[in-house]
Amino acid sequence: MNAIIDTRTLDPKKLIKGATGDWEIIVGLEIHAQVTSKAKLFSGASAEYGGEPNSHVSLVDAAMPGMLPVINEECVAQAVRTGLGLKAQINLRSVFDRKNYFYPDLPQGYQISQFKSPIVGEGEVIVDLPESGGQITVGIERLHLEQDAGKSLHDQSPTMSFVDLNRSGVALMEIVSKPDMRSSEEARAYVTKLRTILRYLGTCDGNMDEGSLRADVNVSVRRPGEGFGTRCEIKNVNSIRFMGQAIEYEARRQIGILEDGGSITQETRLYDPTKGETRSMRSKEEAHDYRYFPDPDLLPLEFTQAYVDELARHLPELPDDKKARFIKEYGLTPYDAGVLIAEQDQADYYEAVAKGRDGKAAANWVINELFGRLNKEGKTVSTSPMSAAQLGAIVDLISENVISGKLAKDLFEIIWTEGGDPRSVVEARGMKQVTDTGAIEKAIDAVIAANPDKVAQAQAKPTMIGWFVGMVMKETGGKANPQAVNDLLKAKLGI
Ligand code: MN
Repeated sequence: MNAIIDTRTLDPKKLIKGATGDWEIIVGLEIHAQVTSKAKLFSGASAEYGGEPNSHVSLVDAAMPGMLPVINEECVAQAVRTGLGLKAQINLRSVFDRKNYFYPDLPQGYQISQFKSPIVGEGEVIVDLPESGGQITVGIERLHLEQDAGKSLHDQSPTMSFVDLNRSGVALMEIVSKPDMRSSEEARAYVTKLRTILRYLGTCDGNMDEGSLRADVNVSVRRPGEGFGTRCEIKNVNSIRFMGQAIEYEARRQIGILEDGGSITQETRLYDPTKGETRSMRSKEEAHDYRYFPDPDLLPLEFTQAYVDELARHLPELPDDKKARFIKEYGLTPYDAGVLIAEQDQADYYEAVAKGRDGKAAANWVINELFGRLNKEGKTVSTSPMSAAQLGAIVDLISENVISGKLAKDLFEIIWTEGGDPRSVVEARGMKQVTDTGAIEKAIDAVIAANPDKVAQAQAKPTMIGWFVGMVMKETGGKANPQAVNDLLKAKLGI
């Protein structure tokens, strides 16, 4: 990491106060993202999650003598798509290397990876910071393809350890960032954004519970203005929240050691979420410990620019582009647009509601009412009881002045729980708002006649009109047009 240029300027708000002064946190991330693909990287065995132990294992995955790996072209295409989504350099020639190490769940005795010549080079990710505000750009150092290992299952029946090779040979993209993050919030926001991009691209499902996305977190601290300090790597964190906690803990641990006059030993650590602390796992290995060398079973991976261009032509609209378009086309704030584009299906739902309607009104209904209700009931857009067409009809009924905003909320509740066509429900239940001034005047006269003392008060203090509006709305069963009530009341009360 020493050779890497520091691209960030110091942000004093992000410093940590130590006992002897301020410290800056430096975070760089290596994300292992499982490639979405039916088969593994070098074999035809299923890459599906789960299954009976050792049911998705070919002779190649079990490293039988004489086996020969054959590259899965779809995994290559997925890596190129991801590189394009990260605005990164695509390398038309890359090389697979053997990374040698011993582990019971790695029968080959080496992982096929890419070392000196990865398939994707430098790129960048633009990250919005929801808590502190603003935006940062996180540099991508590289993306390479490699095999996943199997899984050891310890303390089985009751003292044996078993090995499940279902994951062995599944394709991973290791996405290495530059050390461009300066707080746990920045790291969390980066992983969230990266996950969104991968899901839009369809190159990784981003499911952290199933281990489809794991983070190795490099943390170091330094005095503002100094060079990078010695880092520790926290391995295999599989939740964004835990990653944030691990960074906070690790930074403070390192600051404590340095302030006591000690020094940081470069090592690999593990985060224990139940204790909320990191602990040492092993001393950090260097690249030469793995004795990387080009895999003699595999030719260098080569493709043409035309192949890359063809993949680029078929990329979906990416989150940043969609956000910019939502702001421009629908007049949304950057914040609302950011909320809506976080998941592709949410953005699609919103757009189905907003098309041909008031984009801002549609955003309010989708974000506040729909998302609020979905969250409360643990549902998602794909399991929503209300379709975009139904919500769109509610927005129409408001803009046509058929129902008031208040009645619209009642209507939302009815459609949510009972379903149906909003327009027919309004008709059938007599929910149309009253715009007939005669009927509204009658209600106003009744309220005024019953409350002569309040009339005098309102004339002295015009903000009292709100009380009258409420009473008239009550009198009309919430169906009076609020604007008409307001106008007529002002005239009647002479304020
Ligand atoms: Mn790796």
